Amino acid sequence: MAFYRTYRPKVLEEIDNAQVRETVELLLTKPKDQLPHAYLLIGPKGTGKTTTARVIAKLFNCEKPAKTGAPCGTCEQCSAIAGGVHLDVMEIDAASNTGVDNIRELRDAIALAPARGKWKIYIIDEVHMLSPGAFNALLKTLEEPPLHAIFILATTDPQKIPATVSSRCQIIPFGKAESPDLIHALERIIKAEKMTIDEEAVRLIVQNADGSFRDAVKMLEQLSFQKKKITAEVVYKTLAIAETKRRDDFLTHLFNRQMKESLADIQALVAEGRDVKTFLVDCLWQLQKRFVAGQTADLRELIRRLIQAYGELRSSPIPELPLELAVVEYCEQNKTIGQVINSPSNSPSLEKRGQGGVTMEGLLSLDKLTEHWRDVIDELKPFNHSVAAVCRSARPKGVKDGIVTIEAFYPFHQEKLSEVKTRDMIATVLKKLFGEKVKVEVVLGKK
Ligand SMILES: [Zn+2]
Repeated sequence: MAFYRTYRPKVLEEIDNAQVRETVELLLTKPKDQLPHAYLLIGPKGTGKTTTARVIAKLFNCEKPAKTGAPCGTCEQCSAIAGGVHLDVMEIDAASNTGVDNIRELRDAIALAPARGKWKIYIIDEVHMLSPGAFNALLKTLEEPPLHAIFILATTDPQKIPATVSSRCQIIPFGKAESPDLIHALERIIKAEKMTIDEEAVRLIVQNADGSFRDAVKMLEQLSFQKKKITAEVVYKTLAIAETKRRDDFLTHLFNRQMKESLADIQALVAEGRDVKTFLVDCLWQLQKRFVAGQTADLRELIRRLIQAYGELRSSPIPELPLELAVVEYCEQNKTIGQVINSPSNSPSLEKRGQGGVTMEGLLSLDKLTEHWRDVIDELKPFNHSVAAVCRSARPKGVKDGIVTIEAFYPFHQEKLSEVKTRDMIATVLKKLFGEKVKVEVVLGKK
């Protein structure tokens, strides 16, 4: 059986997300008949919502709870819930039950007393998929729930839940799993499976799981087939992490407009007999993620060129050629930008870009700006010649806390540059060149 199912947290202490665990623990402090009748579990896929829903169901129905009130995980009731066969715990996937009829049926069924336990529990997964009619029916039920009925709703898309429903629920947010939570989950399984794995390897898994318990556990499962001790190297080899690294390296080179390195990346790919198309698609997926996080003209341009290369792949006798062409054209275009970003002392790591969208925090410094002031002026020209001209006789004075101070040496220069429109224009150019969003201030200096 798959690890993710086998090692689903069965009792409260096993819920790996610390914040969620603490929220559920709070439920233990009250008598059950004073607890809310409806819960809304919100979070991305693979973060443990269904698991937690079942633990809450056990909390209500367990026959032999611990002194703390936590469910035992082993009694008849707990086992039936874990196996998804408890008569009074209904699991409904709204993605396949959107009709209002089902909710009507549900309402009728809810009215009946529980068969075995004291409580009747409805777990509705992907609840945002319910039709408006179904939501109304659900809302009516939530407004006056029978005393024995508990609703545990789960969703990946809380925007789509009407406020009338969510306001009646105790909300339990599931963010992306934090590293310690992922480690908590992995260590539980490592212990149970008696795996030998070093810390560095665990760290690598966590790093690549992107906040998903499911992904982390899947990786661990793949590694569990290894007989020898699992090291970072084994992780790299087994988990196609090497491919991720290769892709990210390539994109970093491209963003930095390192043409030679980017072309070498492609050649290495081809030499290993890898599929260029798959690689290109992987790159585009990655770029799309960043595009959603925040856009720059640079990013748009790169995506456009790579899509074009993808289109040309089919008719090209040499599969890597369209990609190589795209690389050369992209690197040659906007060379000024390339030179600015390409300064080796401060070239941003891809990771850094990834985290905050596409911005490169901390890239802009006074030295950098002074060094590339000419590029700034050149970039300003197409916007407004006279502003560019004024900037030529001004100079950057300071970069601090997201504010770029420019020193002008004549009052009318200061006036011109201080106009909101002009400062916005300069900020736009700085964002384009350095990837950093800043405010611009202009002071009058002495020559
Ligand atoms: Zn139990």
